[in-house]
Amino acid sequence: MNTTTATLPDSASHTYEQVATASNEVAGLLAKRLKTETQGEVLFSTADRGRYATDASIYQVTPLGVFVPQHAEEVATAMAICRDLKVPIVPRGGGTSQCGQTTGVGLVIDHSKYVRNILNLDLQAGTVEVQPGMVLDSLNASLKKHGVWFPVDVSTSAQATLGGMAGNNSCGSRSIAYGNMVHNVVGAKAWLSNGDLLDFSQFENSTGRAKEIGEFVKQLAVHHQAELQTHWPKVLRRVAGYNLDIFDNQNERPYTADGKVNLSHLLVGSEGTLAMTQSLTLRLSELATAKVLGVVNFNSFHKAMDSAQHIVKLGNGSLTAVELVDRTMIDLSLKIPAFAPTIRTAIIGEPEAILLVEFAGTDKEKLKRELKQLVALMGDMGLPNSVVEMVDDAPQKNLWEVRKAGLNIMMSLKGDGKPVSFIEDCAVPLEHLAEYTDALTQVFQKHGTKGTWYAHASVGTLHVRPILDMRRDGPLKMRAIAEEASALVRKFKGAYSGEHGDGLCRGEWIEWQFGPALQQAFAQIKKHLDPLNLLSPNRMVNPPKMDDTSLMRFGNNYKIIPIQTALDWSAWNVHNDAATEQTTLPGTGQDPAQGLAKAVEMCNNNGTCRKFDAGTMCPSFRVTRDEVHATRGRANTLRLALSGQLQGGLESPEVQEAMDLCVGCKGCKRDCPTGVDMARMKIEVQHHYNEKHGLQLKDTLISNLPRYAHIASQWPGLMNLRNQSPLLAKLAESLTGLSAERSWPKWKKDHFFNGPPVGVSSEEVLKASKPVVLFVDTFNGYFESENAWAAHDVLSAAGYQVHIASRTKQDTPGQHLCCGRTYLASGQVSKAKEHAKALLEVLLPFAQKDIAIVGLEPSCLLTLRDESLVMGLGEMAETVASKAALFEEFLAAENKLGKLDSLKAKLAPAQKPILVHGHCHQKAFGLMPSVTQVIQLIPQAKVDLIESSCCGMAGSFGYEASHLEVSKQMAEANLLPSIRNNKDACVVADGTSCRHQIMDGTKRNAIHVALLLAQHLPK
Ligand SMILES: Cc1cc2nc3c(=O)[nH]c(=O)nc-3n(C[C@H](O)[C@H](O)[C@H](O)COP(=O)(O)OP(=O)(O)OC[C@H]3O[C@@H](n4cnc5c(N)ncnc54)[C@H](O)[C@@H]3O)c2cc1C
Ligand code: SF4
Ligand code: SF4
Repeated sequence: MNTTTATLPDSASHTYEQVATASNEVAGLLAKRLKTETQGEVLFSTADRGRYATDASIYQVTPLGVFVPQHAEEVATAMAICRDLKVPIVPRGGGTSQCGQTTGVGLVIDHSKYVRNILNLDLQAGTVEVQPGMVLDSLNASLKKHGVWFPVDVSTSAQATLGGMAGNNSCGSRSIAYGNMVHNVVGAKAWLSNGDLLDFSQFENSTGRAKEIGEFVKQLAVHHQAELQTHWPKVLRRVAGYNLDIFDNQNERPYTADGKVNLSHLLVGSEGTLAMTQSLTLRLSELATAKVLGVVNFNSFHKAMDSAQHIVKLGNGSLTAVELVDRTMIDLSLKIPAFAPTIRTAIIGEPEAILLVEFAGTDKEKLKRELKQLVALMGDMGLPNSVVEMVDDAPQKNLWEVRKAGLNIMMSLKGDGKPVSFIEDCAVPLEHLAEYTDALTQVFQKHGTKGTWYAHASVGTLHVRPILDMRRDGPLKMRAIAEEASALVRKFKGAYSGEHGDGLCRGEWIEWQFGPALQQAFAQIKKHLDPLNLLSPNRMVNPPKMDDTSLMRFGNNYKIIPIQTALDWSAWNVHNDAATEQTTLPGTGQDPAQGLAKAVEMCNNNGTCRKFDAGTMCPSFRVTRDEVHATRGRANTLRLALSGQLQGGLESPEVQEAMDLCVGCKGCKRDCPTGVDMARMKIEVQHHYNEKHGLQLKDTLISNLPRYAHIASQWPGLMNLRNQSPLLAKLAESLTGLSAERSWPKWKKDHFFNGPPVGVSSEEVLKASKPVVLFVDTFNGYFESENAWAAHDVLSAAGYQVHIASRTKQDTPGQHLCCGRTYLASGQVSKAKEHAKALLEVLLPFAQKDIAIVGLEPSCLLTLRDESLVMGLGEMAETVASKAALFEEFLAAENKLGKLDSLKAKLAPAQKPILVHGHCHQKAFGLMPSVTQVIQLIPQAKVDLIESSCCGMAGSFGYEASHLEVSKQMAEANLLPSIRNNKDACVVADGTSCRHQIMDGTKRNAIHVALLLAQHLPK
């Protein structure tokens, strides 16, 4: 056989330039053929290409176009078209790779939307065949009932696809027990770039072209036996290069239990450069029914690292993880309200590091004995009383969530310096872990930066990202640190790429790792399988330099266009110090977009907003599964617009398209690891759009509702006619775009604002012993007055002197107070500010006297704690925000102080189970526990929270004809089925629009928690 140098057709830069210059003509042809020959989605706009130009790496390479196949067969058609037109192909799953694997020229093929089914579950054989776009969590959710799972539990399990995991040879936290992807894939069907569909499985049973490929690789392995022995890293976590060692195992854990060669392992870790996966057959493991966790506290980081090699010997096969959390991560977690209580359960004093040591199996008693062995070992090592023993499942689960969020906790640093992934998964043998981490820490210090350490101590793969400013000296420092880190990896005989693959970042290190002879062998494999160099060219073979700034997201030409923002974004407009992580004062970060650009750039593309599990983020993506409708897609679109990469900037139709289905739920504000607040960004964007294009009629109608409500309510017969006449509803739809299918809120002549006055005067409340101010919003005041009265009654029954906040000036007769929310929803910031200012002026004297300001509608009351603070309303806004609380939040806090005994004594027992749906803004502010706590004031109350995202109504969103279907689908995802399945339950929903959606979708009357409590008071 010929084992001489394989010359590939293109150098890296040549391919990139070739495709870039050929783009217009070829792109046109490509798009045309894809449209005519397939039913898939053909996305070739500048914005679409921009959204697919990035993944969770530092790179940005704009593809020619994007194709989203409807069926697996369409992948083959798209490949054939690319072959004809000589266009490279970049396979893609969730796009969460950290090394730029999915950023590339050519046609990106996104499998995640449609090609995501289970094809065959064989429980007897313990295998499952899946399509590549299936997400790991979704697979494991379907397997759970069978008592099995796919155990490569990557941190991105909620969004990573199995095709992508195989592409990267991904590894989970429990790889010490289960191995990497390569140890768990048992077969793959894949297309070569010439169109052949091959079955990659047991080599000894293979035939035809697959057999011939196997023979070719086998001969290469034989030819390079000496290099394999000397240059191949022997650690478990080696994912670089092609798996030439399938024919001469070098891994500390053989790829197959029986020692036989499986050809699918050649594709695992090949990052889409050898073949396009059509399906994968995976080996399943039994679900552990029992787990225990020992959290070992160390007063020195070095000691923690040194101990790992001894700890891994425990457990007699039941040890499944040893994971590190260092002091910085502990401190960061303690600052995050959602994580602080959990991390406190794991620490003793102020440890420098903790190791999470898990034992899993089927017999808890046996595992408890293993845990005792850990305690004994630590005692022998001079660390008595250092282990927190967690035997119950709930605290273990909570602590794993904090560990899984590790990277994301770190990434929330504001300013241009960010923790950068390029040496974050080097793997070294455990006996050298302490020395390696010490030495690398010194390297960071030398370069004026620092890194936070966490993750897989069990297998010598510790994650660490030095903080670098990639717009300034970051690339230079990256190169210098990489050189020094690689020398350490070599010294300790480790693997430079131990988890996250090669991509654009580590391609150039393959030759460094394996030597020129093995690099040539890789080139021959590439050429043999993909002679056309069609599949992700110039990665593992002929790769670019890792610090080629022309391939970076914040490359040399990246510039923000100056704009005047309507909201205050100065909190993001800061610089940070890489060594101390201290940030400069708000507003000093020299962002020409006044902080908006830096807020948008907080999105690091990690893709958490593509998850489908608990939490709110992101309701529109959950329905459409389109990249454009994920928070990431929106943030990328805004970044392109703000940096001049999208014509028309913020006012462009592409930005409107990306924002269209954002319901402003603030799910991302809480659930996005870096706190990207797209709801607030949407307000800013709408403001700029309105400035250029003016307001739509529907926006004028809805936003001004608080202004005309007092007049409209005097003519309820006339105002409600539209609800009674389908013809009028149709006419209204054609004029306003508000759907004829939706009923409008019903006007009433008698409402809270013109009803008999209730409550005490402002003078009285200022002097009261148990004072509270109730802010009644437009919706509860005019349309559901019973809620306002109920809140007054409940607070009074609890012994509070209640004052209803109202206008004192005579210049706005009949008008009530309003927070400005309806104006904010359509980007009318100055009008919102007018209203908010009037409200704040009324509330300020009470807040200054420390009197709580209580509201009923989450989106209105919480405006005081959110947008009011960024509209230039000064200290007054801060003072009021500090006293503003939702009705249930106030009561829950007062109950904790023992102030609700009189109320509790009056409440009659609950007669029905109670089902609660949380308003998105309640969830965004973490207020759902207070709702359940308050309901539990009712004797015998049995409360269940519906696990739901946004209800889909979201202010006026669900009323609009163009959004009707998406709105319904959002509600149908979980909320409405849960209500239908609980026929006897009383449904509680504090949001006006949530109640409306529930009524429309189930004909059930959901009620506000204030009304629920009032219904349990004596009549
Ligand atoms: C916060 C964070 C945490 C992470 N934690 C982990 C971790 O714990 N363990 C770990 O191993 N990784 C981790 N990663 C990296 C990444 O999430 C994983 O590698 C993941 O498996 C990638 O899945 P994906 O669907 O996003 O793949 P993508 O990024 O879309 O693709 C990955 C590779 O597979 C190729 N590919 C995709 N589909 C096909 C196909 N049909 N045929 C051929 N090739 C294909 C792509 O071209 C690419 O080379 C993490 C990343 C982030 C951002
Ligand atoms: S928006 Fe947030 S969750 Fe989504 S990719 Fe960006 S940083 Fe991650
Ligand atoms: S505000 Fe809600 S809909 Fe909009 S991007 Fe964030 S999570 Fe998605």
